[in-house]
Amino acid sequence: MAPRFPSLSYIQEQVKSRSLTVTEVVEYYLERIEATKSLNTYLEVYTHEALEAARQQDQLISQNPEQLPPLFGLVISHKDVICYKDHGVQGASKILENFESQFSATALDRLIQAGAIVIGRTNCDEFAMGSDNSHSAFGPVRNAANPKHVPGGSSGGSAVSVQSDTCLVALGSDTGGSVRQPAAFCGVFGFKPTYGRISRHGLLAYGSSFDQIGLLAHNPTDIARTLSFAAGQDEYDATVSTAPVPDYTQQLKPQPKRIAYFPSAFDHPALDPEVSAHSKDFAAKLAAKGHTIEPVEFEYIDAMVPAYYVMTTAEASSNLSRYDGIRYGHRSAHAKNLIDTYRKSRTEGFGPEVKRRIMLGTFVLSAGYYDAYYGQAQKVRRLIHDRTLAILETYDFILMPTTPSTAWVLGDKQDDPTAMYLADIFTVQANMVGIPAISIPLVNHSNGLPIGIQLMGNRMAEHELLDFVRQISKKG
Ligand code: GLN
Repeated sequence: MAPRFPSLSYIQEQVKSRSLTVTEVVEYYLERIEATKSLNTYLEVYTHEALEAARQQDQLISQNPEQLPPLFGLVISHKDVICYKDHGVQGASKILENFESQFSATALDRLIQAGAIVIGRTNCDEFAMGSDNSHSAFGPVRNAANPKHVPGGSSGGSAVSVQSDTCLVALGSDTGGSVRQPAAFCGVFGFKPTYGRISRHGLLAYGSSFDQIGLLAHNPTDIARTLSFAAGQDEYDATVSTAPVPDYTQQLKPQPKRIAYFPSAFDHPALDPEVSAHSKDFAAKLAAKGHTIEPVEFEYIDAMVPAYYVMTTAEASSNLSRYDGIRYGHRSAHAKNLIDTYRKSRTEGFGPEVKRRIMLGTFVLSAGYYDAYYGQAQKVRRLIHDRTLAILETYDFILMPTTPSTAWVLGDKQDDPTAMYLADIFTVQANMVGIPAISIPLVNHSNGLPIGIQLMGNRMAEHELLDFVRQISKKG
């Protein structure tokens, strides 16, 4: 559906000219949340806080308009893996039952300081592990384009929160595609920055060398604007870049770009023929606009998913060891001693997909198998990293389908985890290399569901990437 408020600048102009109040914006989104409840998008809605924040901004407009914060009127949702001080955060898991954050994630905190209004916490796959949002302890999220279908994952709630017009921008997390893949399935823009561009402080860790907070919106300008405030150095995250944060909305000089695509991806046997045709059509249109589009040999397409799942499950098994029934959340009431407490709390608290990954991760890290699996996967990651960066020395961007198919019917991949993992074939590369990537909504498939296309850029080239997407998309 067309969003009621097309962009933040639209909202701000209307509010400044007194044709709209921030309270009306928040009320509209709250009504939409109510009207779309059956999609199961939100785990918690901050009705009173959001209305109170809106009231304060409306008061500033009438009394002290020069004190308005830069992001006034920006209504955002946050995925249930991003901490918000004094609010619940559960990673959509039973193991974090009744847990409240004692601090806010740096990214969220910065947006709030800049005037963003947080409307609620969105559903997702448990600890961000999944590709269709069916692995949530709170039930699946539905795709607003067709509720029989999944929204993608793991940031399914974030994508649907934008798709169904319940907020303007959503914060998600992307370890292997969890922002871009649901964005493609739901027909919105989904952006993952360079590894280290946005602080991971306050993001529940899944695969720490892959995780990034990402943004979903109806247009690239709102993403650019939000990124300008969310990004940047942070003493709480040693991996965050110290590079200054530009104003990502500032327009760059339009220039013909050099764009690579991989025939091994565009003609991949797993790619839906219509998705392939539309991707090729998009490439042809870019060429017609004067950009250079060239095929490039990339031999690692089929190595990416296996290497990704070996490494991320390894990291996850270590990261999730902190949920032991002692420090946070759920503690089994049936345990007899300490070891039993660990075992029963984790058995009761974690869902089947998380357990599968902990098992796989501890296996690939175990003595005797480490060299054969984890060590090998690291070598594959290095090859993919080096080859991708070498391509990006010659080319500005790499063009890829975002997903091999459109959103599947809920339950379809439930009994076949590897089929679900293969859906990430085109998105994990950006995380393995740490480069920025964006999924752009393309068209609808003849089955009525959205198709996305993806552009990846060089490390720290988010400005070029977002500016280019703004130039080529009708949505600004
Ligand atoms: N689907 C991928 C996985 O399950 C990606 C998840 C993510 O990016 N958080 O690992």
